[in-house]
Amino acid sequence: MIKVGLTGGIGSGKTTVAKVFETLGIPVYYADDRTKYLMNTDETLKASIIQHFGNDTYKNGELDRKYLAAIVFNNKEKLELLNSLTHPITIRDADEWMKQQTTLYTIKEAALLFESGAAQQLDYIIGVYAPQHIRVKRVVQRDNLPVEDVMKRISRQIDEEMKMKLCDSVIINNEQQLVIPQVLTLHQKFLGMTKSDKLNK
Ligand code: ATP
Repeated sequence: MIKVGLTGGIGSGKTTVAKVFETLGIPVYYADDRTKYLMNTDETLKASIIQHFGNDTYKNGELDRKYLAAIVFNNKEKLELLNSLTHPITIRDADEWMKQQTTLYTIKEAALLFESGAAQQLDYIIGVYAPQHIRVKRVVQRDNLPVEDVMKRISRQIDEEMKMKLCDSVIINNEQQLVIPQVLTLHQKFLGMTKSDKLNK
């Protein structure tokens, strides 16, 4: 089983690319969605969130996401603290999930693969790249957010060009280059890859 990471900045098109891999029968672990689920179900994680962010973070046992988001949105330290609680749990959960899959390779989609240390658990990392102005336009449209909010989120992530340099391959999703052929090339590569090949990637 080859463990592939799929990352990129906000609005780069990670989820869109991941869905293409899914159409090829490849299971995808969506780290963001799973983290939200774990924040409501993992008792150890819940306890540590309450310990650091207070009892009001949960209402009737359910995470009050708006309340927590308001705390961390403008506070880098608090956001880092929250990430330091969620990341180890998600990394372990992804590892267990990947072990249960039976395909030749699986994908973990996450915005913060490098920042969280999750990249270390993976054999190969794909970056999804789109220029910043396209990413901003997409997120503004998708989430109905002001440009300033999107820019703030972007400023909290590591520089996109630097992130792409850390990846083993990059899919360009700039609305000019076709995405599906790029996915197919990587799919064929992974199907032909053995565990030892990954060392020579
Ligand atoms: P986030 O980090 O915010 O979760 P993401 O990297 O997963 O974002 P997507 O959700 O896949 O990005 O894409 C952002 C938006 O841009 C979505 O509305 C998606 O439909 C759109 N989009 C992505 N790629 C393209 C494309 N090549 N052409 C047109 N629209 C696109």
